[in-house]
Amino acid sequence: MKVSDIYRNGKRSLSFEIFPPKKDEELKNIDETLDVLCELKPDFISVTFGAGGSCNCNKTIELARKIKDNYHVEPVVHLTGLHYDRGQIDEFAKALKDDGIENILALRGDIREDIPKKDDFAYASDMVSYLKKNHDFCLLGACYPETHPESSDMVDEIRHLKTKVDAGTEVLLSQLFFDNSLFYGFKEKCRIADINIPVIPGIMPVVKAGQIKRMVSMCNASFPERFRKIVDRYEDNKEALFDAGMSYAISQIIDLLVSDTDGIHLYTMNNPKIAKKVCEGIKNIV
Ligand code: FAD
Repeated sequence: MKVSDIYRNGKRSLSFEIFPPKKDEELKNIDETLDVLCELKPDFISVTFGAGGSCNCNKTIELARKIKDNYHVEPVVHLTGLHYDRGQIDEFAKALKDDGIENILALRGDIREDIPKKDDFAYASDMVSYLKKNHDFCLLGACYPETHPESSDMVDEIRHLKTKVDAGTEVLLSQLFFDNSLFYGFKEKCRIADINIPVIPGIMPVVKAGQIKRMVSMCNASFPERFRKIVDRYEDNKEALFDAGMSYAISQIIDLLVSDTDGIHLYTMNNPKIAKKVCEGIKNIV
């Protein structure tokens, strides 16, 4: 099933993001994670992609196949273009097609000093155009409610996003944020720019002290006072921080749902407890 079909009749989506485990022994844990995640009946699960890895043996595809075949949940495969050429992307697309995978989150990927970039896909929109013309996938794209770190301002951000959407992106998944008002402002700017596809907010329940500062600096995310107070108070109390972090994320999600958002994309960090707690917290919210 193509993810874009979910939204046709005004349905909202619930989706999870997971990453392939780095070590083989962690593969067993991912099965336990998937058991819990899939029981929560998400509309899709997206699987991240390590930049610069070999197209053939990437664990992303293996995990996506498992989600589809063993759990009968729709996978979305993340794919970064910056470090690959057209031939490699064709190879990857063919492998996905052979496995019946129909959805790609088409990304540029981060610029990295240690991995040489190739010339074919300088921006995500270049890969979207190429995949659209040469293959048959539902293409999703990333968006940044607080701007991408490389963008000079929101005007630049929206202009380039519009190019990516016009190239064939059908659904947008957002970078994580902690302040809903910034997401609402961003969505409004999208509408003004005639970007009329579903824009799904990405929510990451932050439940560990070390995680918070890393996330905020990596993702350009603002850190609202209400959230800062939770962290200041409970950073040395693991259990309290888990409860308070979960409760903050659930209240963010409820606010998004009552504000007619198209869905919720949950960054699970491969922690099934997080997804389960969120689903319990919103089970009667429609
Ligand atoms: P683009 O859409 O190409 O944008 C990148 C920057 O270039 C922006 O500043 C944009 O404004 C600018 N730009 C775009 N087009 C042009 C143009 N024509 N001219 C000038 N400037 C332009 N990374 C991974 O490695 N693996 C993953 O699995 C992964 N998953 C992600 C999932 C989500 C939901 C998100 C939000 C990000 C994810 N990332 C992942 C991170 C992503 O790869 C980085 O943020 C990357 O730096 C940008 O990718 P993009 O697809 O958003 O790029």
